[in-house]
Amino acid sequence: MLYNSTNRSVSGISLQQTVVKGLADDKGLFMPNQINKLPHSFFETIDTLTFHEIAYVVANAFFGDDIEADALKRIVTGALDFDIPLIKVNDSCYSLELFHGPTLAFKDVGARFMSRLLAYFIQKQSQSDVKVLVATSGDTGSAVANGFLGVPGIQVFVLYPKGLVSTIQEVQFTTLGQNITALEVDGTFDDCQRLVKSAFMDSELNDRLNLTSANSINVARFLPQSFYYFYAYAQLKKVGKADNMVIAVPSGNFGNLTAGLFAKRMGLPVKRFIAANNRNDIFLHYLNTGKYEPRKSVATIANAMDVGDPSNFARILDLYDGSHEAIKHDISGFAYTDEQIANSIRTCWQSHNYLLDPHGACAYQALQDGLEANEVGVFLETAHPAKFKEIVENIIGTEVPVPEKLQAFMKGKKSTVSMNSDFESFKTYLKTV
Ligand SMILES: *Cc1c(COP(=O)(O)O)cnc(C)c1O
Repeated sequence: MLYNSTNRSVSGISLQQTVVKGLADDKGLFMPNQINKLPHSFFETIDTLTFHEIAYVVANAFFGDDIEADALKRIVTGALDFDIPLIKVNDSCYSLELFHGPTLAFKDVGARFMSRLLAYFIQKQSQSDVKVLVATSGDTGSAVANGFLGVPGIQVFVLYPKGLVSTIQEVQFTTLGQNITALEVDGTFDDCQRLVKSAFMDSELNDRLNLTSANSINVARFLPQSFYYFYAYAQLKKVGKADNMVIAVPSGNFGNLTAGLFAKRMGLPVKRFIAANNRNDIFLHYLNTGKYEPRKSVATIANAMDVGDPSNFARILDLYDGSHEAIKHDISGFAYTDEQIANSIRTCWQSHNYLLDPHGACAYQALQDGLEANEVGVFLETAHPAKFKEIVENIIGTEVPVPEKLQAFMKGKKSTVSMNSDFESFKTYLKTV
């Protein structure tokens, strides 16, 4: 399969180049040049397959030409070695818990898939060492660092704003050692992101080093997220509820939702999607007006969705040939203030005894507000509520226990490299590592 850029001046790029580069040279995002439809028989029997079997069929449709079957199976099963339970909240509302991976955030799946894919190319010796740069305001850094930990031939640099991430987030990428280096930047998240972007644009650095991004702009990070949309359908089909399935997705950079749109294109019988946002409602504004007007992001309690210019919007437009009507046909939207998010967490806890995190809460609420009578809704629960312990405890007035997996990180020893926010010093540093 070959890949094209959403900006249309780059085409015919191999999977390997797509993954190693992250972004196309014309600054567009890579899209596969075709989306293969899966056969009816697959959907008829999907409820008899395991998660690994389903994921392999989907992965094979995209990556099957580029990776041998055995290797692809290993990559898929290695990336998905944890449960993704579908929990019934009430008769028409289910939670797909995507947070049972090593860092308790849904980005674990994509990060682990991408690291294994890169390792495969390095192992085949068709690729030499790769340096992954990732700027984080918290959750991406931990998922990427843990996903790539110990993978030979890959070095990861996590840039994060000093003093501006929570302790529980910080320990998840500063205590790992091995091939993971945490760069503690004296600045804001925007400074971190600017340093990473400047590095990708710097021709001298790119001549010397294979620099790539592990954000959802990378095909290998976002595409594997389509697996769990198929899995949600399979699980609903088992209980006879898969007709008229609607999926609500808590969205920031829209990588996750885009993966769902790919699943629909592949034939998954999902009726429609709901994009759930916090106050950063650029996408909702687009749905309402047809105008895409990026804005500076505002801080909310669902902070992984504080995005003012969602990078995957370009992919959504590309997928629908720029048609606002067609996009509106498949996706509706809702946006919530912090106060509304808090109310959803409290109400769901009190009436269903189900504890939401602030991100999943947006998607849960979007189903309450947007589901029609004959539909069954699934919302994606993207993070464990204990990752937002203080916020959630204040809302429900009950202690939220921290799972063993998170506690284990707290015992590690923090090690970071201090960095100012000036590009020249970052560049000098990268040339020495
Ligand atoms: C990254 C993230 C999101 C948003 O996902 P996108 O693919 O960027 O839209 C939602 N919830 C949590 C917990 C996240 O970490």
